[in-house]
Amino acid sequence: MLSINRERLIRDLQELGKIGWVEDKGLFREAYSPVYIEARDFIRQRMEEAGLHSKVDSVGNLFGLLPGRKPDAPRILTGSHLDAVKGGGIYDGAYGVIASLEALRSIRESGMELEHGLEVVAFIAEEAGPLGGTFGSRSFTGQMETPPPDEILQRYGLSRERIQAAQRPKEAYAAFIEAHIEQGPVLWQERISIGIPTGIVGITRYQCRVLGEANHAGTTPMLERKDAFYETVVLLHRWLDYMRQENDMVCNVGNFRVLPGQIGIVPGEVEFLIEIRSLETQKMERAVDKLRQILETAQTCRAEMVLTISKPPVELDETLIGIVEDVCCTYHIPTKIMASGASHDASPLARVMPAAMVFVPSVKGISHSKDEYTESEHLCLGAKVLANTIVRIDKHLG
Ligand SMILES: [Zn+2]
Repeated sequence: MLSINRERLIRDLQELGKIGWVEDKGLFREAYSPVYIEARDFIRQRMEEAGLHSKVDSVGNLFGLLPGRKPDAPRILTGSHLDAVKGGGIYDGAYGVIASLEALRSIRESGMELEHGLEVVAFIAEEAGPLGGTFGSRSFTGQMETPPPDEILQRYGLSRERIQAAQRPKEAYAAFIEAHIEQGPVLWQERISIGIPTGIVGITRYQCRVLGEANHAGTTPMLERKDAFYETVVLLHRWLDYMRQENDMVCNVGNFRVLPGQIGIVPGEVEFLIEIRSLETQKMERAVDKLRQILETAQTCRAEMVLTISKPPVELDETLIGIVEDVCCTYHIPTKIMASGASHDASPLARVMPAAMVFVPSVKGISHSKDEYTESEHLCLGAKVLANTIVRIDKHLG
């Protein structure tokens, strides 16, 4: 088995984690911020030290290439993102970039020469934000049907032309593999070292409004109120009870607003978002129908829902998944086949090329938090699985 340099992997990850870290608050490394550029330069320097040809594309994605024996063959791409949510942890995204870099360094140092070029990528702006999330990977794969408004692009020194220039022909790549922390509790709870996602859940969001009548909170008798808040509580109770019975699907309620939101006034209107995530489109459609039925049961108010986001589920590549499984099986590493409940750069990538992911456990399932943590043993194992998977993909591609 190709082994990796554990000390170097952990050291690089921790050093990278200092860039943008605020004591007691977590990581603040928003895409395009000065600390983001500093972090990207840090990786770029490591790439150059490893003898890779590095370049930053027109939207800010960073690439480092280890050429293969066949210069014209499609490349194997591996990596993740470098940006973080505000107050996030040091592992989300960054781990995948460092693990890829380490996999590549290990392959190079072993004296092995791959047939296919191997490229490490650090995608920009994966996290949700004004640019819409997975911005770097969507630009790279040419999936920007509705680019962000020009005024937002300008804020980041971007333009439609720059987005277009970042697109690379999909024929140039044979596979994408991304290592990532699980960001959920499953592997940690079940004491399994490696998770292998079969797909990335789809996301549907609805903006809901419950419309009642604002009125005096002291003089209007309880049973005569058109209290939008009361009605919302009843409707959401029904909805959440329904969803709690469902498997392989999750939902959340957010961005809650009660209007006018004053203690002297009966709430006249409530707004909130409902989000549903699942790997199965049909299940999500059924849930949406159920939500509509439930909202129609409103007694004293009118309830409405409008679709705001619909991202279909993404299937990862069976052959690549099989290769990851084989690698883990060969080295007796316990694995779990699972869904990814979080969105990743692998989603847009999987739409244009075979893609797979390798998950490592998140302690207590905590992520998008300063307390995000993955044990060193698992970080190293994930990088090792990644390195060996890349070697096998190279052989498989011939
Ligand atoms: Zn991530």
